[in-house]
Amino acid sequence: MSGLGEIFSSHGVLSRALDGYTARAGQARMAERIAAAIESRQHLMVEAGTGTGKTFAYLVPALLSGRRVLISTGTRTLQDQLYARDLPLLGAAVGRPASVALLKGRANYLCRARLSGQGVQAGLFGAPRQSAARIAEWAASTRSGDLAELSELGEADPLRLQLTSTGETCTGARCAEYERCHVVAARRTALEADIVVVNHHLLLADLTLKEDGFGELLPHVDAVIIDEAHQLPDLAAEFFGQSCSSRQVELLAQDLRLALAAARVAAPAARPIQQAIDMPLLALRAALGGTERRIAWQELPASTLEEVQQLLTGLRSAANALTTLDAGPELALCAVRARALAAALDLIGEVSSTEGARAVAVTPRGFQLSLLPYDIAARFSALVEQRPSAWIFTSATLALAGNFTHFATRLGLGDADTLCIDSPFDFEHQALLYLPAGLPDPAAGDYTARVLETALPLVQAAGGGAFILFTSHRALGAAARLLRARQEPLPFELLVQGEAPREQLLRRFRASGRAVLLGTASFWEGVDVQGAALRLVIIDKLPFAHIDDPLVRARVEFLQATGGNAFRDYQLPEAALALKQGVGRLIRSETDRGVVAICDPRLTSRGYGKSLLAALPPMSVTRDGDEAEQFLRRCARDFARQQRAAPVPA
Ligand code: SF4
Repeated sequence: MSGLGEIFSSHGVLSRALDGYTARAGQARMAERIAAAIESRQHLMVEAGTGTGKTFAYLVPALLSGRRVLISTGTRTLQDQLYARDLPLLGAAVGRPASVALLKGRANYLCRARLSGQGVQAGLFGAPRQSAARIAEWAASTRSGDLAELSELGEADPLRLQLTSTGETCTGARCAEYERCHVVAARRTALEADIVVVNHHLLLADLTLKEDGFGELLPHVDAVIIDEAHQLPDLAAEFFGQSCSSRQVELLAQDLRLALAAARVAAPAARPIQQAIDMPLLALRAALGGTERRIAWQELPASTLEEVQQLLTGLRSAANALTTLDAGPELALCAVRARALAAALDLIGEVSSTEGARAVAVTPRGFQLSLLPYDIAARFSALVEQRPSAWIFTSATLALAGNFTHFATRLGLGDADTLCIDSPFDFEHQALLYLPAGLPDPAAGDYTARVLETALPLVQAAGGGAFILFTSHRALGAAARLLRARQEPLPFELLVQGEAPREQLLRRFRASGRAVLLGTASFWEGVDVQGAALRLVIIDKLPFAHIDDPLVRARVEFLQATGGNAFRDYQLPEAALALKQGVGRLIRSETDRGVVAICDPRLTSRGYGKSLLAALPPMSVTRDGDEAEQFLRRCARDFARQQRAAPVPA
């Protein structure tokens, strides 16, 4: 048995060091392939089915390699877990403790310059006195400057923007606080560490030298391991694209106002510069309105396009005026930011329709103009090839029936090795896939009501403990209204996405054990409810990307225009991967049991249904509602027994 085989075996060090450790052959196999890839600096794509234990399967070889390794995760939660729990635990277990650094994007660290600046003081004074005092006290004592230490500061708290820098606002080495800067300190620590844990945003920023990226991390590492790698193609497209948001322009306008005042620029000179940005921004916001939607560029009225042009002209003229004014570094930085935003707007407006999809996303808070390139494969692979490191991509959903072509093609990873590790769970016995008969076409007006008619007997049989996953917010809202309007109220707690933060909903769901949760996209993946608290997952429709989304439509039109088959090469594989993610919510451990009901009749009536089914774990399948209900009653009894034996963990 190899060293890794020994470590991962049922009598190995992990088994001795970790409570509840279960040896799995697939985990050891994955670790061996990753160790070999790190050693020979190869590229490797690994799909590891749920329960493989993929995190340990890449962390142990990373620790044992003695090489410098960069690990990138899709979420900050996983990033924190690797840094604070898994790496110290495994390092001690295998006797190879490493120096590990956690590096987040600059939006997570206190910017001392902004805090001491006039603008932030004003912002803080606008905050409740207690919070302002608490922030000031924390800022004086924190060592890391990581805002996660301020638990009372929510993710969406507008104060975060006041307290942090952006690539545009940071003055870098010219900053008076540079030597004490938390962002700089975190980066220095990262450069000296053996293992650095980042998230995909930071990885891509570093790769493309954008925003947060400082381009120093990647040249120093021997291996890059990307977990939750299925998220990378879409995120990379954003990074290779261009965007300009009302928020960026507002921040610039706000900083400009303060910098003009600080530099004591007289009103007759300052006012036109300020107005060159303020006025067209206001006009464009008014033209777009505040109704949440996404509009394709070519569908924007000529008058709105004219407002975009006015904003571009305003930004350029403000930048030129500031350069002529030559009144200090703060105003010079504003000029650079204005020019960069104008350049982004120019690119978005000018790019040809064969290069990328252009759209405007409007929300009640503002707008974002963006350009997403269609094809990033050549650029991504060129950047990867520039760095002679091992590149390892892993996720529970990278391949379709063992085939990695779709993922590899999107990132240009044609020559990477592949490995598929099947889930160790016994899906055939643990899960039943129910495909109800008799539902109408998903386009039918009463489709959501009919889905609920199918769902309710299943929910009753399961005694709650159900996720109902929708492919649109509209269907989610309609279902919540229909359930609440029932004469006979649902005898289970109803949790609806959007009515409380996601983590709070999940906590309540786990604690209840009998709740019904209605969710859309953010509940289709990255949600882990182990045990009998979740015993039923109902999916309303096949998760095809919405063709009325301008970005999707533009991509489809591009593929059609260039001789591709948009359905076969884009819509179908994307839907199959998303469906696999949604179904994957149900069975999270060896003892989990339950039913997945996929209501969409196209799964059985259309030819492509077979390939979607082939991508799913090998569950038993039934079209008989009674059989599904019986299975769920058994799950509900198991759950009741477990509850009597031990309370459901909160
Ligand atoms: S160097 Fe940049 S991030 Fe650091 S304190 Fe100065 S402005 Fe803020």
